[in-house]
Amino acid sequence: MEPFQLSQHSSVPRFSLLPWEQEFPRLRAGISARDSESIQDPNHCNYAMHIGNDPTKVLDNRKMLMESLGIPLPFWTCGEQVHGTQIQEVTTEERGRGLYGASSAIPATDGLITMADDVLLTSFYADCVPLLFYSPDTGWMGVAHAGWRGTVGGIGPNMVKAFHDRGADRQKLRIAIAPSIGSCCYEVDEHVTIPMLQALPDADGAVLQATGDGKFRLDLKEANRQILLHSGVLEEHIMVSKWCTSCHPTHFHSHRRDQGHTGRMVAYIGRRKDESIG
Ligand SMILES: [Zn+2]
Repeated sequence: MEPFQLSQHSSVPRFSLLPWEQEFPRLRAGISARDSESIQDPNHCNYAMHIGNDPTKVLDNRKMLMESLGIPLPFWTCGEQVHGTQIQEVTTEERGRGLYGASSAIPATDGLITMADDVLLTSFYADCVPLLFYSPDTGWMGVAHAGWRGTVGGIGPNMVKAFHDRGADRQKLRIAIAPSIGSCCYEVDEHVTIPMLQALPDADGAVLQATGDGKFRLDLKEANRQILLHSGVLEEHIMVSKWCTSCHPTHFHSHRRDQGHTGRMVAYIGRRKDESIG
């Protein structure tokens, strides 16, 4: 079953990570979506301040999403994404970083982890792979931004290590790979395949498929899944979304499809202190 389901009752389009929200009722995890209005107006359902759109409009979008999630706006927390592999631990002290402007985001950080309740970890996407993490035995949770650079740089294993360093059992760690570009729409050349094969020497045809002229279709979700399996996470604990962001303009922004003229979705994870709220 597809783990990310379009929320039918939300005033704002979003896909919820239903299996986790059902198993852990205080958890909120998923990725925002967009609707057909976004095809005309990329500012519609854009959640990233660094895109250069009107910041007031972005803040309004964030407010509406948080209201639909039943989470207070000041809990929103984000990092400055640089396609790197740095991970930052977030406490309630850092809560609100990046909410009102990109300049206050946690600098140069593509992975966020927390075990605090009432913090919403967020990061932004338009094709790159969102990795969501939850450690039921310790309560630590996280989100990581894995484009091809972060993927080959090892942000996935870095996150697993960050959880393990904080007492989480790798064999109990849950990971969800959220909607992102599919191999159907992601053709790359040796600029990407060479580092990919260095990071994942046993990459099989499910990861890279030759299309001729030195080009390959890359399944970046599958590459992350295989790299995460090598880092000790159990296969049955990794869920992968089938949604391709490029194939579905009514649901998702896509940088590649729209040649950069697009907004950003936000992937999020957080846990409410009191499940009766919201
Ligand atoms: Zn596609």
